[in-house]
Amino acid sequence: MGTIYAIANQKGGVGKTTTAVNVAACIAEAGYETLLVDIDPQANATVGLGLPKDGEPNVYSVLSGLADTEEALVPTAIERLKVLPSHPDLAGANVELPRQPGSENLLRHALARVASRFSFVILDCPPSLGPLTVNALVAADRVIVPVQTEYFALEGLAGLLDTLALVQRELNPRLTVAGMLLTMHDNRTRLGRDVEREVRQHFPDLVFDTVIPRNVRIGEAPSYGVPVIHHDPHCLGSDAYFELAKEVAARG
Ligand code: ADP
Ligand code: MG
Repeated sequence: MGTIYAIANQKGGVGKTTTAVNVAACIAEAGYETLLVDIDPQANATVGLGLPKDGEPNVYSVLSGLADTEEALVPTAIERLKVLPSHPDLAGANVELPRQPGSENLLRHALARVASRFSFVILDCPPSLGPLTVNALVAADRVIVPVQTEYFALEGLAGLLDTLALVQRELNPRLTVAGMLLTMHDNRTRLGRDVEREVRQHFPDLVFDTVIPRNVRIGEAPSYGVPVIHHDPHCLGSDAYFELAKEVAARG
């Protein structure tokens, strides 16, 4: 059974999808069978890997019981990386899921059927703590929390950690926080350096050594439908995501 990582933060635009796509790609490139599950109705990870955002079957048809997990997995241009794509209809799951008892376990059950074939499964969560993110946290072994190094970085983090502890206590005792990941970091500005120091002081031992720099290539890559390591393998962004993948893979 592979290790399942959820990439979660209720804030939007902090680098969740970018991290999910690029860590998954780097881990696959390093030789591990990897699955990326796009559980955000915005389907940015799906599109960022060059797939249509309204393909069938998809994670919504799987959660609805209309498709088998296995048949919904799609190969990508990266060897050993498969995707369970999203679909805009998944937005409806936020209303439908809470009405069904036990619905927080749907993704866990769906993944149990395929997870043994993968060394790593990466879940890209939507920017909320709603039913889809809860499904991801129930299915996951570990959580990576991307944190943008900007002025409001610390805001909401304590609340997020409380939510993770609640899920761990009530729904998924396996769940641990793998770490916070500083993203879109600008080491040249005083603000960037101050925020990094502050986050590391507040959460000692909980912040990944690797820091993801703000990098134009990282931002461009999704418009070509490829991870940054295929867009520009030698840019600073690719270096950083390879380093992070090493940190993640070393933990198993
Ligand atoms: P989230 O999934 O948390 O909403 P995204 O990963 O979609 O956040 O990132 C938000 C935006 O910032 C996207 O346009 C993305 O391409 C861009 N971005 C993310 N990380 C970086 C980075 N390290 N350098 C430059 N742009 C980035
Ligand atoms: Mg996203």
